[in-house]
Order: sequence, then C-alpha cells, then structure tokens
Amino acid sequence: MKFFVFAIDDGTVFDKNVIAIFNKYGIKATFNLNSGLQDFVWFKDWLEVRRLRLEENKDIYDGHEVASHSLTHPFLTSLSDEGIYREVKEDIDNLRNIFQRDITSFSFPFDGFDERSIGIIKNLGITHIILPAIDDSFRRPADTYHIKVTSWDIDDALVKAKRFIEDDQAEMFVYLSHSYDYEYAGNYDKLEKLCQIVSGNQDIKIINVKDI
Ligand SMILES: [Zn+2]
Repeated sequence: MKFFVFAIDDGTVFDKNVIAIFNKYGIKATFNLNSGLQDFVWFKDWLEVRRLRLEENKDIYDGHEVASHSLTHPFLTSLSDEGIYREVKEDIDNLRNIFQRDITSFSFPFDGFDERSIGIIKNLGITHIILPAIDDSFRRPADTYHIKVTSWDIDDALVKAKRFIEDDQAEMFVYLSHSYDYEYAGNYDKLEKLCQIVSGNQDIKIINVKDI
C-alpha cells in the first residue's frame, strides 16, 4: 500500500473551494491554520487573500484534520525559545477550543526550521511535524518530526504523481499547497485532476498528516 497526504496551509477563504473538491472525491485532507490571523488580508499581486474567521467557518473543516501552523506565521527560527513556545502553544490552545479536538500535527510557517524549534514543538504534544523542505524520494520519513514535502506545486505534483504510481517501491507522497494558489492561477481543475488520479487508484491510501 502507498500513502498520499493532501495538506493545505494558511486557512484562507479559498479553503472552501478546495474542500468542495476534496469532499467530492471523499478525500480527507490536513489543514494547517494560524488562529492569530483571522480576517488578516494580504495581496498576492491582484488577488485579495483573506484568512477565514475560524469560529464562524469551523464546520467546513468537518471530516478533515485541523493542525497548527503557529499563531501568527512568524519566522520561528528567529524567535527566542519563549517566543516559539508562545506561538505554537497559543495556536494549539485556540484551535483545540474552536474545533473541540486534539491538535497533534504542525506545519512550519515560511521556509526556516531547526532542531531547537522542533524540540520545543515536540514538547507541546505535537507528534507530526511538516518541514518546509522537499524530499521527492517517495520514502516514508525516518521519524514523524521530520516529514518533508514531496511537492508544493500542482504541475510538479501531477508529474510526480505519475512517477509515484508507476514506482513499485514508492511509499509516500506529501502534497502541500495553499488554496489561494489555485484561485490565483485559475487552475482548480488541476487539483481536481490530481484528486481523481489519486483517489481512483486502488494501491493508494489517502491519509492525514497525523496518520503518517
Ligand atoms: Zn503558511
């Protein structure tokens, strides 16, 4: 059996669109949320990207894993130990209160990570950590505190998914993206194609990050 993970960072209003696609194919994904940025707006060129108000929209995540992506999406490695602790602890507490479930996975914001921050995050009860780094060997991670990403671009993911299916030795594929990527590029159809290919393959089991 091969394992495939769909993960989405940041919790923006476009999560509703990707969740509609995931639900259509019965796919359970992992959503990495920042509880301290609700209503925050930024612009990707022309596109207004707004964070969801989680309390009002918590039902859209029903059936999917909710995970921490830190409170306010800082460069964690530039913070003090206390700063990292606060960013992760407060986010876990907020998400647990809003969604009424255990939060055991974490995805690093931006592109920095180190063993100091991984150690602090581990001590807060997180059992699965996604690192902002690529490993497209299709191997399972050596441990669940160092899960690397197979792909974070839909065109790349479609190419690699073909290789993943053809490779008898392949074990795992972690696809991490943002819902605003599809809105910006106008290519939700490509995500749907990937969902179709993966969910329709009997050799592949789709799992959450917490189940790696
Ligand atoms: Zn992010």
